[in-house]
Amino acid sequence: MKIRYSDLIFDSIVDGPSLRTVLFTQGCSHHCPGCHNMKTWSTEGGELVEVDELIEKILAQRSRALTFSGGEPFEQPTQCTLIAKELKKHQFNLWAYSGYTYEQILSDPSKLELLQHIDVLVDGRFELAKKSLTLQFKGSSNQRIIDVQKSLKHNEIVLYKLLEKTEFRRKREGIYI
Ligand code: SF4
Repeated sequence: MKIRYSDLIFDSIVDGPSLRTVLFTQGCSHHCPGCHNMKTWSTEGGELVEVDELIEKILAQRSRALTFSGGEPFEQPTQCTLIAKELKKHQFNLWAYSGYTYEQILSDPSKLELLQHIDVLVDGRFELAKKSLTLQFKGSSNQRIIDVQKSLKHNEIVLYKLLEKTEFRRKREGIYI
């Protein structure tokens, strides 16, 4: 199966805790004013590659953390789910950014399976009026950083508790860095 993607970058420190691989999917229907990555909007842009090819590149890295970004990862849910499932076999920590809210994803069967494999979701469209450069791991204050597994378990939104870098490393030693 092929996925359309915009970029695959390694060792990012701004898309979640610690060093992460980031997969920027191609195609986004949200068209948020002020979007920092407009080249990812077109569903004709980027590059079409086999999902297996991307997985191989991701696994070749030392990092065991990946963030799905975009573009809109939840607009290619089948492909992203295949990637997420394979990476979970290798104990990856998975974050995802989406212009859809948690509730919208939860109520859409085509998107739900991907959500179920994600550890942390940063949800909601980017809102220019709520933009702040002081926010960690998100662009505007309306977006939420959600602990997906706890939220699914408790059937209510549980926000992810951001840890200090040193504390995060101590707790997850050997997995993320
Ligand atoms: S959801 Fe993200 S990629 Fe899509 S338009 Fe909004 S800011 Fe841009």
